[in-house]
Amino acid sequence: MSRVVVIGAGLGGLAAAARLAALGHQVTVCEAAGTVGGKLGVVQRDGFTFDTGPSLLTMPDLLTELFSATGGPSDLPVERVDPACAYRFADGTELTLPHDPAAVQTAIDDALGREAGESWRRLHGRARRLWELVGEPVLRQPISLPALARMSVRPADLKAVAPWRTIDGLGRAAFADPRLRMWLNRYATYSGSDPRRTPSVLAVTSFVEQEFGAWYVPGGLRRIIETLARRCAELGVEIRTDCRVDAVVTGGGRVYGVRSGGTTVPADVVVSDADAGVLYETLAPAPARLARRLRRTPRSMAGFVMMLGLSGREPGAAHRIFFPADYDAEFDAIFGRRPAPVADPTVYVHAPDDPALRPDDDTEGWFVLVNAPAHDPRGGVDWDAPGLAERYAERILDVLAERGVNVRPRLRFSEVITPADLERRTGAPGGAIYGTASHGPRAALRRPANRSPIPGLFLVGGSAHPGGGIPLVLMSAEIVAGLIGPAGTTRASTGGFR
Ligand SMILES: Cc1cc2nc3c(=O)[nH]c(=O)nc-3n(C[C@H](O)[C@H](O)[C@H](O)COP(=O)(O)OP(=O)(O)OC[C@H]3O[C@@H](n4cnc5c(N)ncnc54)[C@H](O)[C@@H]3O)c2cc1C
Repeated sequence: MSRVVVIGAGLGGLAAAARLAALGHQVTVCEAAGTVGGKLGVVQRDGFTFDTGPSLLTMPDLLTELFSATGGPSDLPVERVDPACAYRFADGTELTLPHDPAAVQTAIDDALGREAGESWRRLHGRARRLWELVGEPVLRQPISLPALARMSVRPADLKAVAPWRTIDGLGRAAFADPRLRMWLNRYATYSGSDPRRTPSVLAVTSFVEQEFGAWYVPGGLRRIIETLARRCAELGVEIRTDCRVDAVVTGGGRVYGVRSGGTTVPADVVVSDADAGVLYETLAPAPARLARRLRRTPRSMAGFVMMLGLSGREPGAAHRIFFPADYDAEFDAIFGRRPAPVADPTVYVHAPDDPALRPDDDTEGWFVLVNAPAHDPRGGVDWDAPGLAERYAERILDVLAERGVNVRPRLRFSEVITPADLERRTGAPGGAIYGTASHGPRAALRRPANRSPIPGLFLVGGSAHPGGGIPLVLMSAEIVAGLIGPAGTTRASTGGFR
């Protein structure tokens, strides 16, 4: 049996801990915060319960697989979200996409005209091919040059992946209707990136959402963490909260533990769920070039979150997107040379019709998310500047009202989480949700690998390969467990980590 220390009890850390404990390792998780879950947080107020992080679950089979691999099915309920999402464009057009992929084309035809549905069908077919090329072979495997090189060898595959093309470029080629281009560009934000710089291969996220559907956990997505933490406990994982790791301790060319509050927790293997930049910059003695590279890579976008306790109920689509007239201006504000809160942002509302989340049936809670530049008091936006969060929250309520949804008369309270708050809660630098942005043709190559150059140190979670968001984070835990292997094998018990 080898001793494993996991730094951080976010989804990635807990999933890796459960998998490694199921493989026979003795696992300790050190979590800096007073509670587990990281970005999958929860806020409760006046009988309302809000998820503070994810609201959309895709590829729930990955959760099923995680629980099967770690002791058997869980009691986590997962249900379809239908319709999957309702979009409202600046010209007032409404597009409501169903859960069933077979019904998507008709829904687009009905909202935007026949040509639009057909162009979506063609794009979906191309994205399916992308999924075949990158789903299993790249995303669910350790990052490897041979896997990426294989795609470049076959001209047809290279043409499909088209690393030189951006999501925005793909949309321009595929859609005559600017509203569909806007719809597609939004998928770049699933990796916290600017669609004008994000490789088109990341359009696979649109394929995944339409093909495999949108899902929800009744009671809130936070229940994923609660169920997983229970599974960890059943497997004998020790979870220490209020346990900040200050350093990964190395000696003899490999890790031998972590230091926390002046004491060393010994380990044969360390798995870090902390932000990869923080790991290489401050926690582990990584080669300088690695830390330098991460420092130079732009952060992903952050989010400005509002949780609204509302009187009355107006059931509708659980996921609602209110687009602005000028989507490019949003990305210019976030990623431009002078970052600023987006003046006229896209507003995302999650309004699940879930009795478990509201005090009574004459109320409802809304989670509102707006893309935002990361917290950067030195060169960008200082989200702690006095009055900024309050003023911006008022602005978001104005924007909603301008787009036909005035919730002010129904408002009982609002709670806000700024990028600076998220940084304090989870240690994500600047509150950037997805680590680094996926900009440029080599974005996939630039994401930190799951195996570090330091023998015995591994990276899991949204800032490492294959990326952020629940499905990819679960894949990273699966990859890390595969790299480490079962306790007692050569890989796990000797210094054979390369
Ligand atoms: C507002 C918001 C909306 C989102 N929406 C969606 C969505 O709809 N769908 C989706 O799939 N994904 C969504 N995501 C992304 C998703 O939440 C993340 O990708 C995922 O939860 C990241 O998990 P993680 O384990 O990588 O990291 P984290 O959740 O950040 O966990 C890292 C943990 O490590 C701890 N830590 C850091 N440093 C140390 C240290 N030195 N010592 C000890 N502990 C440490 C932190 O406290 C934290 O608990 C959203 C995220 C946010 C914030």
